[in-house]
Amino acid sequence: MFSYRHGFHAGNHADVLKHMVLVQLLEHLLQKDKPFWVVDTHAGGGLYDLTSGYATKSGESLEGIHALWPLRAKASTPAIVKSYLDQVQAVNDKDSLHWYPGSPQIAAQMMREGDHLRLFELHPSEIKLLEGHFASVRRGVSIQQADGFLGLKACLPPPPRRGLVHIDPPYEIKDDYRRVLQTLRESVERFATGTYAVWYPEVARRESQQFPAQLKRLAAEMPKVDWLHATLRVKGAARDGVGLFGSGMFIINPPWTLYDRLAEALPWLVETIGIDEHAAYTLEAQQS
Ligand code: SAM
Repeated sequence: MFSYRHGFHAGNHADVLKHMVLVQLLEHLLQKDKPFWVVDTHAGGGLYDLTSGYATKSGESLEGIHALWPLRAKASTPAIVKSYLDQVQAVNDKDSLHWYPGSPQIAAQMMREGDHLRLFELHPSEIKLLEGHFASVRRGVSIQQADGFLGLKACLPPPPRRGLVHIDPPYEIKDDYRRVLQTLRESVERFATGTYAVWYPEVARRESQQFPAQLKRLAAEMPKVDWLHATLRVKGAARDGVGLFGSGMFIINPPWTLYDRLAEALPWLVETIGIDEHAAYTLEAQQS
């Protein structure tokens, strides 16, 4: 697991889908004047420099945030893409795109006094970045170098009984797929009314292909669980089978507005950042 560094992938097409959905989930929680918790089980470094190091080496952000950035003021850009781009704008000066906010930074900048952010990260270098980034930050953020799957248990249910759990492992080890399913099952038992957002990669690997069906089966087994599943694929699988060609977000207890907003944004994203004829999206939801 210590080979994964999110800096290589920051702002790529998968981050676009993940963080656009995250912003919507947070906006929904912010509608009520009641505090909430966000638990980010796999936090990463928090903020990424797009102009040097890992990001320029991989060039992945060119297929994501860099392609969207010039479109942020266009009337035709869907509202939820704009909301996401506003959060990226918040860490950048005017027109330049230098920094990319990871999920901890997005949550921190959207939260109010009284809301709480619990971050888990295992990687020794990432945790240093994360702690350094939040060193001067306000109350309400707590960071632990710990296994996020295990750490989550101790956070649930959160004291205000309102919350969002973001589960975003690297999936470089196969066991992550199994652990997400187990963690979801146990977490929903402890905190049934929470919103859970699981990200997963579309890669040429059996575990990844079977995962959406497993998530849906799990949701069907749990009482009174609504779910939404969205995928964004930007290209076909590479011939050598290596690489990420798309990703998915599986949300348990989504806000009811999310489906229609994604129905507008996903086809636009396929048009805008799709790379070849295999670019496509899927969107499905089920209410209990
Ligand atoms: N959530 C971040 C975001 O959206 O900006 C990106 C997270 S990145 C996909 C996954 C992170 O999980 C990596 O930084 C990795 O070091 C960390 N990690 C891997 N296994 C972990 C575990 N069991 N518990 C906590 N963190 C873990």
